[in-house]
Amino acid sequence: MTVASTPRTDTDDPSLVSGQFRFFDAEVLRTRRLGPTLTRITFGGPQLAGFASGGRDQSFSLLLPRPGQAAPLLPDRTGEGWYGAWRALPEDERPVVRSYTIRAQRRDPDELDVDFALHGTGPDAAPGAAGPASRWAADAAPGDRVTLLGPVVEDNRSVDFRPPADTDWVLLAADETALPALGGILEHLPADTAVRAWIEVPDPEDIQDLPHGPDSEITWLVREPGAAGSPLAEAVRAAALPAGTPYAWLAGESSAVRALRRHLVRELGVDRARVEFSGYWRRGASEEQLRAERLAAAAS
Ligand SMILES: Cc1cc2nc3c(=O)[nH]c(=O)nc-3n(C[C@H](O)[C@H](O)[C@H](O)COP(=O)(O)OP(=O)(O)OC[C@H]3O[C@@H](n4cnc5c(N)ncnc54)[C@H](O)[C@@H]3O)c2cc1C
Repeated sequence: MTVASTPRTDTDDPSLVSGQFRFFDAEVLRTRRLGPTLTRITFGGPQLAGFASGGRDQSFSLLLPRPGQAAPLLPDRTGEGWYGAWRALPEDERPVVRSYTIRAQRRDPDELDVDFALHGTGPDAAPGAAGPASRWAADAAPGDRVTLLGPVVEDNRSVDFRPPADTDWVLLAADETALPALGGILEHLPADTAVRAWIEVPDPEDIQDLPHGPDSEITWLVREPGAAGSPLAEAVRAAALPAGTPYAWLAGESSAVRALRRHLVRELGVDRARVEFSGYWRRGASEEQLRAERLAAAAS
């Protein structure tokens, strides 16, 4: 197993954000329902020729227009200045920004697949339960315009899955929001990698075929309707794990991911440096709130 480095591009291109990313306009080409919870949206457009997904859990920022706007309003797209310009816009005009994963990238023509977990959009959903991205994805139609802040180099800082070279086996755990990333990771891994994966979804019909080699075991966990907690930590705790040195990648709801990481580090003694974990969302907090918390913590 090889460890990838994270290069900066050696260019002075003023459109670059943090040396590895820039804005790409795109439009919805088609949508396909994968199951009750997940919908796949395929984006296209000439600017995507420069988009360079590194596969695995490659994430990006999706900028969505506000109601009444034909496309996201972004007055400054030049490099590092964009965030200040975005913040200076009135709240009801500035694009909604949310994190998503590239599930697949294709060339000729340039296309990107993004799988959206819909939450709070069904007929029985409580009013206000859906966030703007979930609502947008539920209604998306060909021709809808978005902007992506994404990579121009394949090996970039928005890829977190980086197993050290001495890894004997890989542990993966995800809920439905991180299922696209987990699928990308499985596609990337050599077929002979030993993998133990746990995936939590809300509905049995969300279970999908995933690429896997002869030593891959994928366990699907269907959440009880209305359950507040996650079954991930319990399922991993009950499992007989392979011998040897693991590398773990965990992503999903923050408290579920933290509980699982605690189990791996404290109870199983896995070196914390070998556990990559990421809260993809937190119950009761929008992504804006999470971003504001991170900025406040960094400033204090
Ligand atoms: C690196 C990264 C990659 C990600 N990749 C994907 C991806 O490929 N596909 C994907 O679907 N999501 C992905 N996510 C998660 C996604 O960004 C969040 O779910 C986001 O909050 C959705 O935005 P929203 O506008 O719908 O809801 P928000 O406005 O952010 O939140 C509104 C409310 O909905 C709740 N909420 C948010 N998500 C869920 C959920 N899934 N189920 C139930 N309640 C929820 C929040 O707690 C909040 O109370 C990723 C997140 C990160 C950090």
